Amino acid sequence: MSSETSTKETFEYKAEMNQLLNLIVHSLYTHPEIFLRELISNASDASNKVRHLEITDESILDRHKELTIKVQVDEKAQTFSIEDAGIGMSRDDLIENIGTIASSGTLKFLEKMKTDKDKVGDLIGQFGVGFYASYMVTDEITIETRHADKDSVGLRWTSSGQGGYSIEEIDRKERGTKISFKLKDEFKDFSKEYKIKETIKKYSNFAVFPIFVGEEKVNTIEALWTKKKKDLKDKEINEFYKFVANDWEDPLAHLQLSLEGVGSTFKALLFIPQKDSFDLMRTQEHKTVQLYANKVMIVEDCKELLPDYLHFIRGVVDTADLPLNVSREMVQSSPVMQKIKTTITTKVLQWLDKMAKKDTEKYDKFYKTFGKLFKYGINSDFTNKDKVIDLLRFETSTQDEKTSSSFKDYVSRMKEDQKEIYYITGESRSQVENNPNMEYFKKHETEVLFLIDPVDAFIIPSIPEYDGKTIKAIDKGDIDLKEDDQAKDAKENALSGALIDLFKETLKEQAQDVKISKRLVDSAVTLVATADGADKHTEQLMKMMGQDVPKSKRILEVNADHPVIRNLSKRYIANDKDPMLEKCIVQLFESAQLIDDELTSKSEYVKRMMEIMEEATQ
Ligand code: ADP
Repeated sequence: MSSETSTKETFEYKAEMNQLLNLIVHSLYTHPEIFLRELISNASDASNKVRHLEITDESILDRHKELTIKVQVDEKAQTFSIEDAGIGMSRDDLIENIGTIASSGTLKFLEKMKTDKDKVGDLIGQFGVGFYASYMVTDEITIETRHADKDSVGLRWTSSGQGGYSIEEIDRKERGTKISFKLKDEFKDFSKEYKIKETIKKYSNFAVFPIFVGEEKVNTIEALWTKKKKDLKDKEINEFYKFVANDWEDPLAHLQLSLEGVGSTFKALLFIPQKDSFDLMRTQEHKTVQLYANKVMIVEDCKELLPDYLHFIRGVVDTADLPLNVSREMVQSSPVMQKIKTTITTKVLQWLDKMAKKDTEKYDKFYKTFGKLFKYGINSDFTNKDKVIDLLRFETSTQDEKTSSSFKDYVSRMKEDQKEIYYITGESRSQVENNPNMEYFKKHETEVLFLIDPVDAFIIPSIPEYDGKTIKAIDKGDIDLKEDDQAKDAKENALSGALIDLFKETLKEQAQDVKISKRLVDSAVTLVATADGADKHTEQLMKMMGQDVPKSKRILEVNADHPVIRNLSKRYIANDKDPMLEKCIVQLFESAQLIDDELTSKSEYVKRMMEIMEEATQ
């Protein structure tokens, strides 16, 4: 069918597509050249897909056609085109993949980008909006394509990027896709060969298919991971990383592996990025590693090669143990994969351990960025749990906020008579530092781990002990505290058991129990969880996740040595019916709630405070 006889159909973009295009055009101006990277990456993906298909399907169009990527520019006409012999697109592909925003994450991405324009460049490739980057440099794009299916037809798609697009049938014999456009005046440099060559060398040097600009092949096609370690230059490695991970920045660290023999034979070049680009919205899973079988890419994002908690790793794994025509399903169930995964996990944990010992600064940076994900290893990887535990880091009460400590560090600083490891959970360092439950530990100079990352509250129940020492929350009821003599005396002098009974009676609805505290020094009262109750932080977290948690009552601990408590004691001895007693008891209880952010009856609290102040100022 020729283009003259076919009808041209027009389609409208959804509202969000217009938004997206608008955003791209207005935010990408600092890196216009990424349009080229995105187009080359799409052409490579399409070539990869067809290479795979060629092995399994004999009937495809242009079987064994050379898979090159051709860029043509015309400086005079100010035009640019890129053509691949890849899998091509059907009409449905064009509508679904090019005409619509595919992922729900993109909408969130849009929202975020409105406030955070600097990040657009970093994220654009990862959100499936890559093709549209070209609208930065042109006003209208034409795609001519034909799918590898032997019954396919040639199609032309055109759009000015505003409002909608049109699709019509054309006469196209060969398989693959050609994308062409005229450059806007301010970007006419991209119609110069030298500029295109320079950009390709910068961003796409490691594309596995030959890229031609005019007649000249411009990229080095090299499987870097097969080189010997000593022959690898840092610069090359960093460039390679940027290429595979679609990142702007150098990686934080890299690991080259070459394993042969017993378990599995594979080579790998793995990276930890500097930043977690998904931290912003967490709407998508991380992209992980590419799987190659003898230098041919078979899976672009092979999550099965790494356990979930190591999904921040990027890079390439190449094995000779898988046949080229392996299907994705086969990859998933292959025992080869399981072996590689086990080996990679062990190697990555060793790598992190070495980094933690030799380059603390780097490790801390990694931990800050990916720690949240990494920590889940404790709950999910039983075999390596202990290794992951050793790699955990915390701020602590005796170290400044810049210093992170492992359990091992903590244990090495423990005093001789200290038998347990203590921690407190909370939202920030200042919040936990000022928690009344810290008073005892400050006074006795006993170190307390600060678990101030929300994830910590989830993992800590899985670590009951370290090095034979029980790990305990300091705001739980059953802590084995030394009772110093002073407090003991004070307790006996100031508090008759009867006053405590009055506390219990007054608060019988609100508190699980009332006890004389051994952990308070400066504060009058504090609330602690019962030994088996969820602590406040866990409760809040569960609530945050939409889970209904029955609120467990807490234990009120009273500081017998505090002047207010002593005064109450005196009043009680003078007149145990004194109405001030009850008022103060409720007020004390609610003050403890207030500190824990749990006070609900604020107006009553204030009213009662006024009454007490009124009496005090008479
Ligand atoms: P992404 O590549 O991140 O998925 P793009 O907007 O760049 O996002 O492309 C959207 C989709 O369009 C691709 O996933 C692919 O299915 C299709 N596509 C783009 N370019 C090509 C091409 N050259 N050949 C075949 N399909 C393509």
